[in-house]
Amino acid sequence: MTRALFREDSYLTSCTAKITEINELGGIVLDQTVFYPTGGGQPGDTGVLRLEDGREITIATTVKGKDADEVVHVPAEGQSLPEVGETITAEINWEVRHRLMRMHSCLHLLSAVLPYPVTGGQVSDGKGRLDFDLPEAALDKDEITEKLNDLISQNRPVSADWITDEELDAKPDLVKTMSVKPPRGSGHIRLIQIEETDLQPCGGTHVKNTSEIGRVRVRKIEKKGRQNRRVSLIFDE
Ligand SMILES: [Zn+2]
Repeated sequence: MTRALFREDSYLTSCTAKITEINELGGIVLDQTVFYPTGGGQPGDTGVLRLEDGREITIATTVKGKDADEVVHVPAEGQSLPEVGETITAEINWEVRHRLMRMHSCLHLLSAVLPYPVTGGQVSDGKGRLDFDLPEAALDKDEITEKLNDLISQNRPVSADWITDEELDAKPDLVKTMSVKPPRGSGHIRLIQIEETDLQPCGGTHVKNTSEIGRVRVRKIEKKGRQNRRVSLIFDE
């Protein structure tokens, strides 16, 4: 298993680690990492692994391994692989990750502004979207944009807490996202709280305060199937 340092502190940009395994596809497993693996609608981190002799291995993406506690760093094509047991420094591409954190946290605000069941969601660099189960919809782009920027400007703290699987089972209302199940199995689930705004299970990386998100704007609202409305956001900078 890989110790998930990004889950304890999403602002860590690098760490030292030991290579515990190189899998059959050339994926590199570490004993601990700051790299977030693809999941919950958030893409895996990119960055570099720096070897003690100064060589760098470019990491194209990060994914979960065969068990969910394992994080696999996927090298870009044509990299020479390190040895198991080597100590390296793992460093993420922080500029991209920070934008992902900002947009991911903003999607939590969107789910509070539009309090309907969420059927899917995706964050990518500079944009994000949520799909809502909403058959009769008169959603107004400008109104949603205004409500989001209002919450963002209120400097609301964002914090993480852990509960047990049993506690979550007793509170099914906490699970807003029907298609993205909260990470569980380890007996504990992480809750993300935006003060007086939103509380939901989530394993992704978040900013500390809504003001850090910056201005956003609803780019479009689309009808996806009979019941679904897709609301897409971008940064408004
Ligand atoms: Zn989240």
